[in-house]
Amino acid sequence: AKSRGRGRFEFFDVALRTRMQRRLRMEQDLRDAVHSGQLWPAYQPVVDLHTGDMVAVEALLRWTHPKHGPISPAEFIPLAEESELINVLGKFVLNDTTRELAALRSARGLDLSLKVNLSVRQLDDPHLVPAVRDALATTGLPANALTLEVTESALMRDTSAAAEVLTALRSLGVLLAIDDFGTGYSSLAQLRTLTLDTLKIDRSFITGIADSHDAAAIVASIIAMAHAVGLTVVAEGVETEKELILLRELECDQAQGYHLGRPSAAAELFR
Ligand code: C2E
Ligand code: CA
Ligand code: CA
Ligand code: CA
Repeated sequence: AKSRGRGRFEFFDVALRTRMQRRLRMEQDLRDAVHSGQLWPAYQPVVDLHTGDMVAVEALLRWTHPKHGPISPAEFIPLAEESELINVLGKFVLNDTTRELAALRSARGLDLSLKVNLSVRQLDDPHLVPAVRDALATTGLPANALTLEVTESALMRDTSAAAEVLTALRSLGVLLAIDDFGTGYSSLAQLRTLTLDTLKIDRSFITGIADSHDAAAIVASIIAMAHAVGLTVVAEGVETEKELILLRELECDQAQGYHLGRPSAAAELFR
């Protein structure tokens, strides 16, 4: 029994070491990926529910690993968030997508807005505000054509530094969105103190609205509440026509989801 116990210890030790080594290797790979073209932004259409037009695209970062193929941002973004690497990735996304969108807008005469995700850690980066200002100045993308999406949990961290950064971003003229709304614990009162433009209802609230009166009632009340404080409302994760029709009835402003368009490379989306 004793030797078996020891063997098991060694097994766990090896498993743990392997896991840690894989993490370290992935982090190093990710550092290299930024400079070798393995990272690229996919764009998902955002549709205006009043007109049916695509009015914006959300940039969603993709990593095509040379050996392991596509790796999900759900995996590599949290890894990047463990270090300052997220600031490097964030800056890359900002520069690359503003350049791409500005070029598309002028080449096609499109009035298309851009939505970019920001990590909570980027709000603590003193270079964030100048980086956003520079990206706009360099590309000529109008500030009001850029929305920065920050998750509800990131916004609810009670730090005055983050609040200051949000104010500074807003004074550049960019718009701010609260992402994954409903997954945190913010109250209407807290929402009012933040100067936001858009509220994005988390996908978990949209799934099932067509089949459940209760689920639809919750979404209806989120929309009413957001409108009451002057926010534009976006529904994410719209996967069916029924959901789309219902959201329109509930006077939701914008929607995105697989039913309206999957995230794709710019060349594919705008061919
Ligand atoms: P998110 O910002 O909430 O983005 C929405 C996610 O839902 C995306 O996953 C998108 O592909 C997916 N999605 C869109 N429509 C549907 C649908 O109809 N059904 C379902 N089941 N899913 C849908 P993705 O691209 O895997 O990104 C995951 C998360 O990674 C994002 O969640 C965001 O938090 C983060 N992320 C992605 N790109 C960036 C980035 O450039 N910077 C930062 N900081 N985070 C990013
Ligand atoms: Ca988002
Ligand atoms: Ca979301
Ligand atoms: Ca999310």
